[in-house]
Amino acid sequence: MKAPRYSALHLVRHGLTGKDWPRVWRSHDLRPAYDVVIVGAGVHGLATAYYLATRHGITNVAVLDKGYVGGGGSGRNTAILRSNYLTPEGVAFYDRSLRIYEGLSAELNFNVMFSQRGHLTLAHNDSSLRTMRWRAEVNKLVGVESEVIGPGEINRLVPFMDVSENTRYPILGALYHPPGGIVRHDAVNWGYARAADFAGVHIHQNTEVTGIDVTGGRVRGVQTTRGPIATRCVVNCTAGWSSLIAAMAGVELPIMTHPLQAAVTEPVKVFLGTVVVSGTLHVYVSQTDRGELVFGASVDPFASYSMRASLEFLEEVAGHVLQLMPSLARLRVLRQWAGLCDMTPDYSPIIGTTPVEGFVVDVGWGTYGFKAGPAAGEAVAELVATGRVPELIAGFDLARFTDGRLVGEKGAAAVGH
Ligand SMILES: Cc1cc2nc3c(=O)[nH]c(=O)nc-3n(C[C@H](O)[C@H](O)[C@H](O)COP(=O)(O)OP(=O)(O)OC[C@H]3O[C@@H](n4cnc5c(N)ncnc54)[C@H](O)[C@@H]3O)c2cc1C
Repeated sequence: MKAPRYSALHLVRHGLTGKDWPRVWRSHDLRPAYDVVIVGAGVHGLATAYYLATRHGITNVAVLDKGYVGGGGSGRNTAILRSNYLTPEGVAFYDRSLRIYEGLSAELNFNVMFSQRGHLTLAHNDSSLRTMRWRAEVNKLVGVESEVIGPGEINRLVPFMDVSENTRYPILGALYHPPGGIVRHDAVNWGYARAADFAGVHIHQNTEVTGIDVTGGRVRGVQTTRGPIATRCVVNCTAGWSSLIAAMAGVELPIMTHPLQAAVTEPVKVFLGTVVVSGTLHVYVSQTDRGELVFGASVDPFASYSMRASLEFLEEVAGHVLQLMPSLARLRVLRQWAGLCDMTPDYSPIIGTTPVEGFVVDVGWGTYGFKAGPAAGEAVAELVATGRVPELIAGFDLARFTDGRLVGEKGAAAVGH
């Protein structure tokens, strides 16, 4: 069934006739068997389902979620998109995702509000400046727009930021990445869900996976709170919960789950044109199209599955934002929240097959996985459909941890998601 198009004509027609719009995605009975079962209805699970159905004609697919679409990190992130990473593997991978994002509104017929407003990573000391130069060179080699700029240029981009030498952490320069920006995360999740649903995928919310059946070293099915499902392929897209799901299949992942918090202020007139990140101050700031300022930091320094926000975080992040932008002192914070992040030792994802036949992982997305959803979904769909590992994800396999081939991204991913 084809999704009804969202267009001005349809808007007028629905207004005149008073006819309801069809549901964005539908509810279905659980089938006893699916060709592919995807666990997790975040951007990764939904994108994988969408590309399986639309690019490879595999539509007998279930996406299972113990909660609701986008209820994990995909509906809690601060929606920063960029590709200015440190390793050639990382830069090429995130660049592919950014390029898909550029055409995503048109492809999904759903406005994902991708605003390429530029991304600044500040350097407050010589070693950060050195890393920025390193990143800029790697970025340029892969064809990604990225350069180191000085305080004068930073001041032109963000006039009210304190770039003087009289601050506690003077700004020596920044890595400027013009194609970076922000997106509307819910729209991305809903757009993929709608398109996957109309392509024939079944999205089952409130359906928790409680076990994975493995016999003879291969996947045979999953157990859920709504009954068993037979399948020969399970894709683990559960981010913060991914090591628990992998353990059900007998696979151990080198992942620790940490909470990550963020906060948003009351809306004010739009004045901040770029995303600003400071690794030294452990903070980043952007402004939504509605005018709210969004603040974030690095993960909480302890492993936990708790999604409670804390006063310590708010005090710290507010103090650091004011060091950069003292004029925000009177702005009020509206709300804060937390999500879970699946941290790997090298700050790169784990995508690919596992020692259990039919059990595929797309995990280890830490604090930076929302931007990766489209490219990861595209690559995982190809892997599942063809059995071949796409070149783009070859370096992110699970075996790299035992073979000593880490893809170290910490210098580009610890704070600037
Ligand atoms: C505060 C915050 C800010 C962030 N900012 C950014 C950013 O600016 N840019 C960026 O790129 N990334 C950012 N991230 C990271 C990003 O949100 C995640 O990496 C990404 O959303 C992971 O997507 P996913 O689809 O893999 O998993 P999720 O969206 O987390 O989805 C996993 C799903 O699995 C489901 N699940 C778990 N266990 C089970 C089970 N047993 N059975 C069935 N379902 C189950 C959960 O309910 C959940 O819906 C941020 C994260 C947070 C928390």
